[in-house]
Amino acid sequence: MTVRWARPEDSPWRSSTCEFRASTPTELRLLIEAARADRGVIAFPYKSVREMVGDEPTHCPAGHLYSHGRRHGRLIDQWAACDCGGHHVLVCEEPDCPQPQAYDPPVDYDCAPAAPR
Ligand SMILES: [Zn+2]
Ligand SMILES: [Zn+2]
Repeated sequence: MTVRWARPEDSPWRSSTCEFRASTPTELRLLIEAARADRGVIAFPYKSVREMVGDEPTHCPAGHLYSHGRRHGRLIDQWAACDCGGHHVLVCEEPDCPQPQAYDPPVDYDCAPAAPR
């Protein structure tokens, strides 16, 4: 995950961004808790291991091929800020798609994601 500080001076590393690697869910949770506890941190998007190895989904939940699977397209991957750390929002451009936005990780019962952008 990437932690971003509003000002480099606020960071223990004197840098406004810092990359962290978590090899277990427990480690990731500790990183997230530390980032949340630090008032200088403005954002800490992180990717799951599944995404880091490049295994992007190719189809939306309704089975449409995402546009990056077509000739010139690329995956539309928006970001919804959320108390849990945030969600990737994969957008299906098929006009009649019943589920055009797929949240990754899925929205949990205590999630309240902001509007994706
Ligand atoms: Zn679709
Ligand atoms: Zn959430």
